[in-house]
Amino acid sequence: MIPDATMTLDLVDIGANLTHDSFDQDRDEVLARARAAGVRQMVLTGSTVPESHAAAALAAAHAGELYATAGIHPHHARELDAGSIPALRGIAAAPQVVAIGECGLDYYRNFSPHEDQERAFAAQLELACELGMPAFLHQRDAHERFVAILREHRPRLVRAVAHCFTGTAAELDDYLALDLHIGITGWICDERRGLHLRELVKRVPVERLMLETDAPYLLPRDLDPKPSSRRNEPMYLPHVLEVVAACRGEPAAALADAITSTARRFFGLPPPVVVASSDS
Ligand SMILES: [Zn+2]
Repeated sequence: MIPDATMTLDLVDIGANLTHDSFDQDRDEVLARARAAGVRQMVLTGSTVPESHAAAALAAAHAGELYATAGIHPHHARELDAGSIPALRGIAAAPQVVAIGECGLDYYRNFSPHEDQERAFAAQLELACELGMPAFLHQRDAHERFVAILREHRPRLVRAVAHCFTGTAAELDDYLALDLHIGITGWICDERRGLHLRELVKRVPVERLMLETDAPYLLPRDLDPKPSSRRNEPMYLPHVLEVVAACRGEPAAALADAITSTARRFFGLPPPVVVASSDS
C-alpha cells in the first residue's frame, strides 16, 4: 500500500470493466473507494455493442471522471454483423467515448473463429482511423497475425495501446517499434506468471506506459492483507503503480505524475473535475 502518497495521487485506470454485473450491487461504493485511493479517472472497457452502450451511459452519468471505449472484444467477434460498425460509430460520437476497442485477436480462448476475429479487428482499426480515435487493443497467442493486421493500419491510426501486456521481450520490441503504448495490469504482481514483466517494464518509455486494473479481473495476487473477495477494483491501481515503480527503480509519486500525463494525452482527457484536497 502507499501510506502518505495516497491523498495526493492522481491516477487514471485506463481499463476497468465497471459495467460488469459483479459491480451491480455496490458500484457507487467502488467508485468512492477508487476516488479515495487517488484513482481520479477511469476508462471503462466496451467489449460488445450493448456493453459499449452501457459503458458510455455509465460514463455520461459521471462526466469528467468516467470515460469509455466502444468496441467488440475478439471473444465476441462472431457477433459482428452489418449493423455493428455503424453502432460503434454512433456510440463513439459521444464526447465521453475516447477510444475504439477493445479489439484484437485472442487465439488462446478461441471463442470466435480466427477469420471472424481478424475481420472484426480490421474493421475496428478502420473505424478508429476514420474517426481519428485511439485504439484499445487485446492480443493473446496471436502475436504474428496481430502485428501483421495492425501494421497495415498503423500509418493512419493516431494512437494505440496494447492493453494488459503480458508478452515476451520480442513482442514488446515489436509493439514499441509500432509506436504502441503499453498497458500494464496487476499481472505483474503474479509470482507464478508475471515475473518476466518485472524486467520488461523497465524498457517501456514513460511516455508509452499506462496502468490499468482490468477490474473485476486480475486481482493482484500479492495484496496484503488479502481482500476477502477475489473481485478486482480500481482502488488497487496504486498497488500496481507501487510494484511497477519498484521494478523501474523510480519513486512512485514521480512515476504516477508521468504516466497520468501519458494517459491523459493518449485518451485526450481533461484534468479531473474533482481535485484532491492536499493533505497538509
Ligand atoms: Zn483484453
